[in-house]
Amino acid sequence: MAAPATKGLGVPMRTSIATVSISGEFPDKLAAIAKAGFSGVEIFENDFLTFDASPREVAKMARDHGLDITLFQPFRDFEGMPEPHRTRAFERAERKFDIMGELGTDLMLICSNVSPVSLGGIDRAAADFHELGERAAKHGVRVGYEALAWGRHVNDHRDAWEIVRRADHTQVGIILDSFHTLSRKIDPNSIRSIPGDKIFIVQLADAPLFDMDLLYWSRHFRNMPGEGDLPVVDFMRAVAATGYTGPLSLEIFNDQFRGGHARALAEDGHRSLVYIMDQVKRQEPDIRIAVPDMPDRITAHGVEFVEFTTAPAEKANLASLLGTLGFNRVARHRTRSVDLYRQGDIRIVINTDQTGDSFAVSSYSVHGTNAYAFGMKVDNAMDALKRAAALGATTFSEPRKAGEVHVPAIQGVGNGVIYFLDDSAKLSTIWDAEFVPVEEEAAQPTAGLTRIDHLAQTTHYDEMLTWLLFYTSIFSTRRTPMVDVVDPGGLVRSQAIESVPEPTFRLTMNGADSRKTFAGKFLAEGFGTSIQHIALATDDIFATANRLAELGFEALPISRNYYDDLEARFGLEPAFSDALRAASILYDRDDRGEYFQIYSRTFAEGFFFEIIERRGAYGGYGAMNAPFRIAAQRRLSGPAGMPRG
Ligand code: MG
Ligand code: MG
Repeated sequence: MAAPATKGLGVPMRTSIATVSISGEFPDKLAAIAKAGFSGVEIFENDFLTFDASPREVAKMARDHGLDITLFQPFRDFEGMPEPHRTRAFERAERKFDIMGELGTDLMLICSNVSPVSLGGIDRAAADFHELGERAAKHGVRVGYEALAWGRHVNDHRDAWEIVRRADHTQVGIILDSFHTLSRKIDPNSIRSIPGDKIFIVQLADAPLFDMDLLYWSRHFRNMPGEGDLPVVDFMRAVAATGYTGPLSLEIFNDQFRGGHARALAEDGHRSLVYIMDQVKRQEPDIRIAVPDMPDRITAHGVEFVEFTTAPAEKANLASLLGTLGFNRVARHRTRSVDLYRQGDIRIVINTDQTGDSFAVSSYSVHGTNAYAFGMKVDNAMDALKRAAALGATTFSEPRKAGEVHVPAIQGVGNGVIYFLDDSAKLSTIWDAEFVPVEEEAAQPTAGLTRIDHLAQTTHYDEMLTWLLFYTSIFSTRRTPMVDVVDPGGLVRSQAIESVPEPTFRLTMNGADSRKTFAGKFLAEGFGTSIQHIALATDDIFATANRLAELGFEALPISRNYYDDLEARFGLEPAFSDALRAASILYDRDDRGEYFQIYSRTFAEGFFFEIIERRGAYGGYGAMNAPFRIAAQRRLSGPAGMPRG
């Protein structure tokens, strides 16, 4: 992603990230940070101590990447010390000031004291900071004071600000960190009364809501703004209201990130800052925010089509599976070997085009038969493309033949393609322009499937936050709580993303930890392909089940134990549970409604269809049935090429 363009203030948004936030060796971190578009970097002392480079060498490396060193940190246990600790703390600080001179940075972070020997008292701390300010001035550096959420005497930015205010020194300011404020549920609006020029740097981090020790939570579970549950936008609105124009710096401690990909993490980080500041700009229209203009979050109105790529020799299998689901081939492409299948509002495209430069061919050669693309209905396709690009998505296009319509698109999970289609009367013109109806075939009665309820994408667990941020930052969506699905081969975490206000677009993301899980095996065998299942809705599950049986559809057989347990759990009438069992229908219910599911057997590298009916306002995805589905899939797994844990 390129650095954001200048707007309004005449200075671009300055972005920074602490070197601890991402994985890898120190030089790789700097390269990834620069490539992702950051203008600055916070140097953690330990990072270069362990890398064994001198401060001057580190300064040169950062400069060579075009990065400012925004902050040197951390300096611990400074204020309120009794002698002889106090004298030693000042001496220690002066040594660090020398290092900062060599690093070429003028700002040091001092976090609030956690030492058991430290003494409280706002005036004592203020006096220490005033004296430190005098010494800092001689070195031409500044010090910023940060209230740690677990500080011994100071654990609230309001107290830190009072100390800085009383220290009353040009070289002494406050450092705000969203985690420390928001984890303790301190009202971020209290920031609004701090003068912007006394805020020396702002550190941003989010986190999932956990009820745990603050230090442990902070050191292990922070994540990028927008990936967690903290009100980081409210925090930044308050910061923006102070007139602060300094860097926005990410400081993320996360166990999972330490093992992740430096490039992807840096890109996520930059995306998260642009996303957060775009929201701040919309909610604080009177404040100039130097973030690029982009359309507001895009409302997804549903899936217009899903496209499979396959080889000509394998096409018959997929076509016959669609036939047993009640689909009819309704049209074929004017110039390519591409067929359109339809049922209700569901369109499935099978692409066996062998044109050398087509992406379908390369996707097939990497992943085998797979659902590599889908079309998303939006109000304005060009707006969707603009917003996605502004947030760092990779745009997608390929050579068109004469008469083919340009459809804006981006790359998504597993190198799949997301096409954007205007949800308007013009939509049919795309189909009309490129496809001709197939009239020679007699249409069979359908199975009553009406629309695509949801797509399910599978990814490695360490990429899951990346893709959740991708969807939630581009589209107007909400995340449901994460659910753990137990697979005999390990854990799969599942989280749904739904359009708001109406769930017209639903997508479930499954993060597989282990390749021994069914989902992990799918990833390994398909080399990271994207869509693992497509859920098709019916308004009458029993009628659909009957019709599917006539069509020769083979449902995934579900164990008798499941139905015995189900009957007991929900107190079902035996006749009802017999009907479910006869058609291999899984069932769930919550206080808002009921959910019925039928699964197909797996296809290709572990792909499957799901047929569902929602009754009432049931809002889930049958997560509690997933272990039974996985067990059934494992039982059916064949030895060759099929998933077997
Ligand atoms: Mg911090
Ligand atoms: Mg599903």
